[in-house]
Amino acid sequence: MGCFYVAFQVTREALREAVAAVRALGILGLNVTMPLKTAIVEHLDRLESTARFVEAVNTVVNREGVLTGFNTDGAGALNVLTEARINLEGEKVILLGAGGAARAIAYNLVHACGSLAILNRTVEKAVALAELVRARGEARVAARPLTQAALAEELRDSSLLVNATSLGMRPLEAETPVPRELLRRDLAVFDLVYDPANTRFLAEAREVGARTIDGVSMLVHQGAESFRIWTGREAPVAVMMRAARQALPP
Ligand code: NAP
Repeated sequence: MGCFYVAFQVTREALREAVAAVRALGILGLNVTMPLKTAIVEHLDRLESTARFVEAVNTVVNREGVLTGFNTDGAGALNVLTEARINLEGEKVILLGAGGAARAIAYNLVHACGSLAILNRTVEKAVALAELVRARGEARVAARPLTQAALAEELRDSSLLVNATSLGMRPLEAETPVPRELLRRDLAVFDLVYDPANTRFLAEAREVGARTIDGVSMLVHQGAESFRIWTGREAPVAVMMRAARQALPP
């Protein structure tokens, strides 16, 4: 059986009908992106555990008319870190953000790292997320506001810094979540933002000699997870990476 992957622009108002069409046409599955990742939940039959935790779905699979929602962002992020040979065991990770992407990453990271500090502009969201993840894993989990003082303190004993905020993403491309003077050569820096791929945050991290991983890698790996869910086969990650890098602005 051949598969085709095509893009449809679906409004919030048309979401119910679009999901009904998936059932009616026997479409194998779909990816969902902002702003419909949460809105689609009520139209599905089941949620897999990550999607339930994140309360957002980016992948849907249709098995004989039963639609199940998955969230592959966390698994995709972890695969990127594994591919980049970033050692997480016993290490402290700083996660910036407490939105959907941060929730997915925290859900997966808490099993892999030694401790996790979640910093968010709205600190209440960081506190709520920390409480939820703490219950899931062995890692120590802290919540702080996303301020320069908290960043400076948390960065002292951290080895990986992950940006899961929208800072740096178009139209906020002039912004960075971390001032350049706090970046160090011995840090690994992972930015989820993929438009642009070369964010100010990553450019400044590179300037101080830090290792960097961009959001295009994550985009491809979360897509590769979707591919595995739909087909049961390994995804051609190298082919997907080349296509994504050609298609997206640098
Ligand atoms: P979201 O649920 O809307 O969360 C946005 C996050 O960014 C929140 O933590 C928010 O803080 C923070 N934020 C927004 N504007 C800010 C500002 N001016 N200053 C400080 N913090 C700010 O979005 P999301 O789905 O988690 O996505 C977050 C980013 O990850 C986006 O750039 C998205 O493109 C990227 N992403 C990439 C991939 C990939 O595959 N590469 C996958 C998923 C997401 P508050 O809670 O205080 O509002």
